[in-house]
Amino acid sequence: MEARSDQFVLALDQGTTSARAILFGRHGNIHGIAQQEITQHYPQPGWVEHDTDEIWQVQLAVARAVLRDNGVSATQIVAAGITNQRETTVLWDRSTGEPLHRAIVWQDRRTAGICDELTAAGHAELFRERTGLVVDAYFSGTKLKWLLDHIPDARARAERGELAFGTIDSWLAWKLSGGQAHVTDPSNASRTLLFDIHRRCWDDELLALLDIPPALLPRIVDSSGEIATIAAEWLGAEIPLSGMAGDQQAATFGQACLEHGMAKSTYGTGCFLLMNTGQAPMASSHRLLTTVGWQRQGHTTYLLEGSVFMGGATVQWLRDGLGLISSADQIEALAASVPDNGGVYLVPAHTGLGAPYWDPFARGALFGLTRGTTRAHIARAALEAIAFQSAEVLQAMENDAGQRLSELRVDGGAAKNDLLMQFQADLLGVPVVRPKITETTALGAAYLAGLAVGFWRDEAELTAMWQAEHCFEPAMAESRRTELFADWHRAVERSLHWAKAE
Ligand code: ADP
Repeated sequence: MEARSDQFVLALDQGTTSARAILFGRHGNIHGIAQQEITQHYPQPGWVEHDTDEIWQVQLAVARAVLRDNGVSATQIVAAGITNQRETTVLWDRSTGEPLHRAIVWQDRRTAGICDELTAAGHAELFRERTGLVVDAYFSGTKLKWLLDHIPDARARAERGELAFGTIDSWLAWKLSGGQAHVTDPSNASRTLLFDIHRRCWDDELLALLDIPPALLPRIVDSSGEIATIAAEWLGAEIPLSGMAGDQQAATFGQACLEHGMAKSTYGTGCFLLMNTGQAPMASSHRLLTTVGWQRQGHTTYLLEGSVFMGGATVQWLRDGLGLISSADQIEALAASVPDNGGVYLVPAHTGLGAPYWDPFARGALFGLTRGTTRAHIARAALEAIAFQSAEVLQAMENDAGQRLSELRVDGGAAKNDLLMQFQADLLGVPVVRPKITETTALGAAYLAGLAVGFWRDEAELTAMWQAEHCFEPAMAESRRTELFADWHRAVERSLHWAKAE
C-alpha cells in the first residue's frame, strides 16, 4: 500500500495504571494521545486486582477520544495494535463474554505458596527450560490455577470448553472483535509459565502440572500479522487488528532494537532491561529471563530480560521517605551541586536485590558517610545506584549472550535525567541514546501493526525512522570506572543477608 499523510496507525496501550490510545503517522510521529487512569483494587495485603470490564470500557473510551479530539475518522486508521501490562490474568465466559472474577494483576503475590510447592516438588528446572522463566507468582500460570481452584465449578466448566483464559491482549482482542477472536501472541504467551518458547506452543506437561484444561487457552498468532478485525460498532468502521505484544517487548521493538545484541532500558519505578539475542532462545546463567520478543512472518526473535526493583523508586524514596527533595526533577540539580559522590554509596536493596545477586534478605544501606557528607552526596549516590544496578544486569546479559553491547537505548521517566544518563554511559563504556519519541511501548505496537498491512515496508524502514534526541558518550577513564565498581561491590556485599527470615 502507498501510505498517505492523512492515514494513521492506532496503538492501544493498556498499562498497569492507565489506558492510552495514540495515533501514529507514517513517519512514526505522534498525531494524538488520549489517556485515562484505571482503578486499582487491593482486596488483601499482597493482592492487586483490576476490574476487567473497566479495562475494556476505559480502553474503548480513549480510542474513541483520540479519534474525536483529532478529527480523525476510523476509515483513516489503516491498522491497530495492542500492547499491554503483561501476565495479568483474565477468565471469562465464552457465551456471555462476562468475566468470572476481577483480573489478577502481575504484581499480585497470592500464588507465592503455589510457586513454593512447585519448586519444592522439583519442577522449577522443567519450567525454566521450557518457558525461560523462573517459577514466581508474577507469571500468569499460577494465577489461572488459583482462579480455577477458587471459583465454584470453574474447572469443570473449563473442561467443557465454556470458559476462556487470556492475558489483557487476549481480553481486548476478544472484546474488539465482538467475541470472534480468542488469540494471544508469543510475547504474551511466553509470560504465562504454560508456553514452550522453543516449540512455540502451549505445553501439555506444564498444563497438567498446574491442572489447567487446554480448552481454556487462546490461539497463538503472530505479533504482527492478520490477528482479528475490530468490529465497526466500536470506532465507526472495521479496522484490522494486526499488532500485539507485551509492553516491554513492544518497547524493545519501538526502540528499533531489531538486531542481535541491541538493548534498551526503561527507567521507570523499576528498570526493565531487554537485549535482543536473535532467532535462538539464550539460556541465562544469572537467572535472567529468556522471553519471546515478537514473532513476524514465521520468524521469532528472542530477548533476555532483567529488571532492577528500585529504579526511579529510589528517587521517590528520597522525596517521600527522606523528604530530601520535593519533586523528582529536583534531584538532578542537587546531585550536580557536588563534583562527585564524595565516597558515598547508596544500595537501594529496600525490597531485596535481584539480578545478579538474587538476595531477598538484602536491605537498603548507605555507606561511606563522613562529617563532610551532605544531602547532595546522597542524591548523587541515589542516581549512581540506579546506574550501577542497571550496568550489572547488562553485564550479566553480555555474559549470557556472549556479545558486547554497542549502545543502550533508553526511555521512561528517569531517562530524562541527563546526569544519570551520562553516568550510565560512563559506567557501561558505551553510548547511551535517548530517542526523540519516548512513547516507545505504543510505538512498538504501532510498528508491529503497520508493518503487517504495508504501512511501513520493512524493519529497515523502522530502523531509519528511529531518531536520537541525545547521545551520551562515555567519558570516564577505565581506571576510574574500575575503582567505582570496586567500591559499589564492597557496599553491596555489606548489604546482603541483612533481614532475618520470618
Ligand atoms: P512508571 O511507568 O513505572 O510509573 P515512569 O516512566 O512514569 O514510571 O517514571 C517515573 C519514575 O521516574 C519515578 O519513580 C520517578 O521517581 C522517576 N523520575 C521522574 N523524573 C525524574 C528525574 N528527573 N530524575 C530521576 N528520576 C526521575
